[in-house]
Amino acid sequence: MINLETPKKFDLLINQAHQVSTEIFRPISRKYDRVSSAEPGGPIKELDTLAALIDGMNSGGEGGTGARGVRRDSKGEEPGNRNGTNMSSVLSVMEACWGDVALVLSMPRQGLGDAAIASVASDEQLERFGGLWASMAITEPSFGSDSSAVSTTAVRDGDHYVLNGEKIFVTSGSRSNAVVVWATVDKSRGRGAIKSFVVEKGTPGMEVERLEHKLGIKASDTATIRFTDCRVPAENMLGSSEIEDAGDATGFAGAMQTFDNTRPLVAGMAVGCARAALDEMEDLLGQAGVEVDYDRPAYVQTGAAAQYLQMEADWEAAYLLTLESTWMADNRQPNSLQASMAKAKAGRVGVEITTRCVELAGSLGYSEHSLLEKWARDSKILDIFEGTQQIQQLIVARRLLGKSSGELK
Ligand SMILES: Cc1cc2nc3c(=O)[nH]c(=O)nc-3n(C[C@H](O)[C@H](O)[C@H](O)COP(=O)(O)OP(=O)(O)OC[C@H]3O[C@@H](n4cnc5c(N)ncnc54)[C@H](O)[C@@H]3O)c2cc1C
Repeated sequence: MINLETPKKFDLLINQAHQVSTEIFRPISRKYDRVSSAEPGGPIKELDTLAALIDGMNSGGEGGTGARGVRRDSKGEEPGNRNGTNMSSVLSVMEACWGDVALVLSMPRQGLGDAAIASVASDEQLERFGGLWASMAITEPSFGSDSSAVSTTAVRDGDHYVLNGEKIFVTSGSRSNAVVVWATVDKSRGRGAIKSFVVEKGTPGMEVERLEHKLGIKASDTATIRFTDCRVPAENMLGSSEIEDAGDATGFAGAMQTFDNTRPLVAGMAVGCARAALDEMEDLLGQAGVEVDYDRPAYVQTGAAAQYLQMEADWEAAYLLTLESTWMADNRQPNSLQASMAKAKAGRVGVEITTRCVELAGSLGYSEHSLLEKWARDSKILDIFEGTQQIQQLIVARRLLGKSSGELK
């Protein structure tokens, strides 16, 4: 029997994340939306204290996000129905993004690079890189969606690799203290030669060149980073150093596997942000005397209530797909299809719900009297990074039709 209740053992974690949202994130949400991270005054001091608190909480139990949150280590575990660190991460991220997506993205040690380290690092590397705050640098000026087109090079020189290239749109690339950089060790060998490297800040040859001004998630810094003859210890390469055959591409698949863990997290962010808009909207409808009745068909209710019910249904579908893909990760089931379905659905309905709430609330929604307009801006990125809406649909289509990336582009 399917049990759709959230596991009781995570109640405390969810409550704590909710408290952080209401008492820390929401009160500073508008302030850091105005002080763009691309300007002086951007770095968010309040979050350093909070991060230390979360570190303390994580060290005592199973909960947590970032590097600890997405490990798929099966040693010594009985197979069965498991709700582990993927589930606790996604549930807490949803709750925290109910507070503020941009602030969650700016949290020390909770970067997508940490998730990458957790998914593909060896035990020794996981130990060595524990405590780092790692961003993820895949995108380059010459490509975004087609991550097999990586042109940043990594050339072996003794016990180092020498990195050269430019990475753009690196989330937290300025504030984090490490970056997981995707680079090719041999461009002529195609996607199988793409590897990821943990490059710590302060490594000579690595330079943050500029920060972007953006539509939303303004509190989160988005950096351009240049690598010029940047020497990285060979043991900082994540996964196997073997170059796989183009047809096999296990190495690249290993790097891509990161997405199976991070896409449910990003879907969870969209679900959390959309929930914030729905809760605010329900309050506003209540104040306007509009009652939403979940037990009666939408067509016998007011137009506003009917629209609200439709949004709730879409939200529920996104929420359940997100939990399904997360549960599969915890139970070590292949979840690429479900992770992309969750990301596609949650990314799209996140944008639709937040924008529709702005519309339903009228001038109040468009103004800065509430955070509705901010959530509409913030949610858009969740349908773009970690694979756009169209790319997720492409992946789903390939999986369902049994087509390769060469057969269906
Ligand atoms: C605020 C922000 C933060 C980011 N953070 C990071 C980060 O931390 N690390 C990182 O590496 N990158 C990051 N990115 C980059 C992000 O992942 C890319 O923007 C995204 O992958 C899309 O790439 P692109 O912008 O080059 O668009 P393109 O790939 O040029 O796509 C343009 C449009 O065409 C569509 N499209 C592309 N290919 C296909 C296809 N085959 N079929 C159908 N439609 C297609 C896309 O869906 C999109 O709508 C960030 C971007 C932003 C804006």
